[in-house]
This record gives sequence, C-alpha cells and structure tokens, in this order.
Amino acid sequence: MRGAWIVDQGVIDVTSAFLVTRRLHDEQTPFQHLEVYDSPRFGRMLLLDGAVQTTEGDEFAYHEMLAHPALCAHPHPRRVLIIGGGDGGLLEEVLKHPVERVTMVEIDEAVVRASRRYLSTICGGAFDDPRTQLVIGDGLAYVNDTPDRFDVALIDSTDPQGAATGLFSAEFYAQVGARLTADGVVAVQSGSAVYQQELIRSVRRNLRASFPVVRTAVAAVMAYPGVLWSFTIGAKSRDPRDLGPEIAGRLEGFRLRLYTPAGHRAAFDLPPYLLEQVETE
Ligand code: SAM
Repeated sequence: MRGAWIVDQGVIDVTSAFLVTRRLHDEQTPFQHLEVYDSPRFGRMLLLDGAVQTTEGDEFAYHEMLAHPALCAHPHPRRVLIIGGGDGGLLEEVLKHPVERVTMVEIDEAVVRASRRYLSTICGGAFDDPRTQLVIGDGLAYVNDTPDRFDVALIDSTDPQGAATGLFSAEFYAQVGARLTADGVVAVQSGSAVYQQELIRSVRRNLRASFPVVRTAVAAVMAYPGVLWSFTIGAKSRDPRDLGPEIAGRLEGFRLRLYTPAGHRAAFDLPPYLLEQVETE
C-alpha cells in the first residue's frame, strides 16, 4: 500500500505515527493549521496544528464519554452548551438526548466547514438539527458575556495552547459555573491519562474551586497518544460517579458503541497508580 507517515504533533513528549494515503484538505486558518487525511486504519482524520483531533475510526469512544456521563448526571438536561467541538461529533451525541437546545461555540468556522465536507460520518446531520445554535466565536468571551443559563456544559477544546489555553483555567470554570443551573454539570476533555497527568491534576484543582463534586473518568481512545484518555466532570449537586441502573433508561434507543450503564462506574474507578497521580489536595 502506497502512503506516507504523519506524526501526531500533540503537546507531549510521546507521540504516534499514522500511515495515511491521501491529504484531503490543507488550510491555514486565522487560528490554526487544519488538515484532513485519509488513512487505512482510522479512516478520515482531522488534525489541527499537526495534532490528531478526531478520526472516523475512534471518534465514538471520545464523544460518547464526553457527552453521556455528564448528561446522565443531570436529572433533565434541556439547555446544553458546547465549547469547541468543531467536528460536530460531540454535538451529534448530545442531540440523541431530548434536549431543547444545544449552543455550540466554536472559534474557527473553517473546522466546521471542513468537518461538514469531509467528516459527515462523524457529525451526521447535527449541524442542521433545529435544536442546534452554532456560534462562531471565542468560548471564553461567550461564557463571560452570555445572559443565558445551561444545564450541562461540555468543553471539547484542543489541548491548552493558543486560543484554548484559557479554557482550562479556574476563572473560566467559575464563569461556566455561574452560567449553569442549580443541578448544573460541566465535563472537560482533560487530556491523556498516561502522559498528561499534571494537566488532569490542574483541571481537577481548577474545577474544585467552583464545583463541590469533581470526578475523572477514563476511556480508550485508540488514535490518541497513550490511548487512555481522561474526562473530568464538575457537578453542582449529584455525584456523577454514583449513577446506577437509571442510566439505561436515559440511553434507551441510543446506538452507543462504548458507553454502557455497567461501564459507567468502572470508567470512574481509576486504578491506584493513576488516582495517586491525579488526586489533588
Ligand atoms: N477531541 C479534540 C481533543 O480532545 O483535542 C478536540 C476536538 S475539537 C476539533 C477542538 C476545537 O476547539 C477546535 O475546533 C478549536 O478550533 C476549538 N477551540 C479552541 N479554542 C477555542 C476557544 N477559545 N473557543 C472556542 N473554540 C475553541
């Protein structure tokens, strides 16, 4: 098979290489270098500044784990906020729930444009759902300025560099908390559970300043460096780890490929080596 190797330019000192057969898109946007490749192993892959963001082959794992534990941790999520998530995969998962509106704030319209064109197996019709409100703008400014309130916020950003840096701060999480309703829940992609444990510690510490309950779950996201990825949740009331059989009712009819009620608790039960690394005072 003819092809070339691309190396994931993530923000850590360990990486992955992928055999790709075609570069479908290559664009320098006002915010980042945007590429879409085709690969035999993962199908189409979206890269931003050389870092793998999502692939057709494993996006289900990441988007299910970022969406469903948080949405099930809220008794009746009606208004959901997504920051980032330009590929539309998270939006597609959220719309499986009986929500009234999903406001998605993505800073780079080029990511949405390229995802709609090349990654329709990931975003499906999510961008055209009447419940979707797409805002092209900076999530930091949006959360700071919006008068709206949300039941669940999902932070699906690139890693903490460039425009995404502030999305991992205690100040931002405090602002998110102020925009959430009484039983509000926020979920954050908090990086590699293997190579970014300091980031996870920092996210947990920053969330703890505004949320009484903070829990981290992990799941295998095959194309990401180290595979094991972390998702950290801040909750105003209910402990997201302690959801039980009621999850099954909330997920009835969803075609999920990773997240299950039985797997929910296991995802939050971090192995000792990891818990000791990410626990903060
Ligand atoms: N799954 C990926 C990960 O874990 O790194 C994230 C995917 S999604 C493509 C990340 C999105 O966050 C990008 O489209 C990027 O443009 C967006 N983003 C970064 N900083 C942002 C900000 N301050 N406000 C809104 N969107 C932002």
